Amino acid sequence: MAEQESLEFGKADFVLMDTVTMPEFMANLRLRFEKGRIYTFIGEVVVSVNPYKNLNIYGRDTIEQYRGRELYERPPHLFAIADAAYKAMKRRSKDTCIVISGESGAGKTEASKYIMHYIAAITNPGQRAEVERVKNILLKSNCVLEAFGNAKTNRNDNSSRFGKYMDINFDFKGDPIGGHINNYLLEKKKEGFSFFHSPCLKLLFVQLLQGGSDQMLRSLHLQKDASAYSYISPGSLMSQTSLSPQCSINDGAEFKAVADAMKVIGFKQEEIQTVYKIVAAILHLVTSCFCGELQRRGNVVSIIADLLSTKSDMVEKALLFRTVATGRDVIDKQHTEQEATYGRDAFAKAIYERLFAWIVTHINDVIEVKNYDTTVHGKNTVIGVLDIYGFEIFDNNSFEQFCINYCNEKLQQLFIQLVLKQEQEEYQREGIPWKHIDYFNNQVIVDLVEQQHKGIISILDDACMNVGKVTDEMFLEALNNKLGKHAHFSSRKLCATDKTLEFDRDFRIKHYAGDVIYSVTGFIDKNKDTLFQDFKRLMYNSSNPVLKMMWPEGKLSITEVTKRPLTAATLFKNSMIALVDNLASKEPYYVRCIKPNDKKSPQLFDEERCRHQVEYLGLLENVRVRRAGFAYRQTYEKFLHRYKMISEFTWPNHDLPSDKDAVKKLIECHGFQHDVAYGKTKIFIRTPRTLFTLEELHAK
Ligand code: ATP
Ligand code: MG
Repeated sequence: MAEQESLEFGKADFVLMDTVTMPEFMANLRLRFEKGRIYTFIGEVVVSVNPYKNLNIYGRDTIEQYRGRELYERPPHLFAIADAAYKAMKRRSKDTCIVISGESGAGKTEASKYIMHYIAAITNPGQRAEVERVKNILLKSNCVLEAFGNAKTNRNDNSSRFGKYMDINFDFKGDPIGGHINNYLLEKKKEGFSFFHSPCLKLLFVQLLQGGSDQMLRSLHLQKDASAYSYISPGSLMSQTSLSPQCSINDGAEFKAVADAMKVIGFKQEEIQTVYKIVAAILHLVTSCFCGELQRRGNVVSIIADLLSTKSDMVEKALLFRTVATGRDVIDKQHTEQEATYGRDAFAKAIYERLFAWIVTHINDVIEVKNYDTTVHGKNTVIGVLDIYGFEIFDNNSFEQFCINYCNEKLQQLFIQLVLKQEQEEYQREGIPWKHIDYFNNQVIVDLVEQQHKGIISILDDACMNVGKVTDEMFLEALNNKLGKHAHFSSRKLCATDKTLEFDRDFRIKHYAGDVIYSVTGFIDKNKDTLFQDFKRLMYNSSNPVLKMMWPEGKLSITEVTKRPLTAATLFKNSMIALVDNLASKEPYYVRCIKPNDKKSPQLFDEERCRHQVEYLGLLENVRVRRAGFAYRQTYEKFLHRYKMISEFTWPNHDLPSDKDAVKKLIECHGFQHDVAYGKTKIFIRTPRTLFTLEELHAK
């Protein structure tokens, strides 16, 4: 429990509420938000409400107030849990992780940056040059990833289009010595928009046109005037997308900052040039059109060929034809206009994704821990920071929302396992009286999505595997057949009387956070690797080594039997399983972010919107478990080892029949007996204050 500030600011820890009810929770959350107290604890969880204004609470002074202090000694703050995670890592050599979740615009990325900033500020007191270098790269990597992976949307001016997990490695002194980044599912697209309308790319293009020197733009065959590009100019497609024209303000400076960050990270000049060549090639590619006029626009083809270091005729061929093997013959089949457009979009998207993946790999190469000898320096420990999109419910939900919501089911399952289930099981094991808390175990929904052979992803993959034309409707039919009886799945065909299922193409999943209706439209296409082999070979044959490296599978010739690449959903599923396994091996800390309103207003607390978020973040359940629970537990032996010197009965040794009896005696002589419970092997202490007092006695 946090040190209480004046009650005028509400309760600093939701655990202190008089009754655990939604109205009381909301009243406290609102009061604190209105008083500018955006952080509140639930035990060790920090609940954060986006203030939408700059608060003077992240400076050097504040950092010093939190540094090395116990969680419950200071008012709730991100720095408090950053410090708790850091201390657990340093004192107890534990790997820890900080999981930041919440919906778009709730403040996750900002929170992750403040946490990184805090860790950077409190480490390396000796100013070792190598550690400073690593810290600088870790911080700069954010800037580069944001440039390539963020976009302005109507929900958030700086929205991350990918989930990010970053490990920071520490040496035995507790100083950062390296790291590793993983990213998940690049580019959430809006329903009905193709890659053409990717807000991510638009921002990048605008930055490039505004910030690139004349000479650079010339070499990229670009004109400074954005209106030359129907793709990004205002008044054309711009009006249909969420990207507003104002986003170009100050982008010149942004471009320079990114170029500078790439240099600091260690990208070579040629590599930076390649990055911009690729970005320019994508721009040329998406503004080229077909209508049988590609030949007449030969200029575009030669520009693309130049930028991608390949030959014009090969680019043209890859765009207009597809090489197919029929038996022993290999023939070139001409695309219809529709196929050509589709192929080009998939190509542009793939180039962009591989560029992003390459940038991440490059950063990882630079920050990877090298030459760390554990026998000399002791264990190398890790703090992981996860910034990942929360649950999404839009008017139209598609494949991307399906993946994101599945990800949140996985994280909720982890939370349940770690916090709720483990607590309850431990109390049972230890024979501590325990009031059972009802909570919904969402494993059944995780299974619905990911189970082998039976889950939605398997059914989708099976549908994609069929030869011949597979439609989204056929996929839905398969879902209906296989999941018709599942309590968390329904569709119009299965429940014709259900008015909420308006369309034949919809299916509904009852998620732990609420019902979501998905449209099957696009599931098949988005799940398949839709890129024609011809493009892979084209890129593999590029004379630019960086580009070649990005396309290793282009090496295979058409007649070589290629293994079917894993589908998008399966890749995502595998990455989620790996992520959760990784998090489960660490001691977790949570930041739960809430977006107070949809207007980006610092004043407005939209009760309805906030309550919904509190519900699906499971915060009330979290409070209930915390209140029923104990803040601290330790085996009798270890407890004695630490505190035996504070009692004459136990110091230097005790003559009682067991360690348990000795601990009882020690607790009683300090008058803490009402705040503890004795399990079979462990002592349980209810409030952190007791522990704090014990620590003080110990320090005397
Ligand atoms: P997405 O899922 O779209 O990436 P997000 O949860 O990462 O969203 P952020 O980009 O962190 O959201 O925050 C959105 C905006 O809210 C920020 O650009 C900033 O203007 C404001 N904001 C968030 N947190 C804070 C804060 N602690 N102090 C001041 N402003 C904040
Ligand atoms: Mg973000």
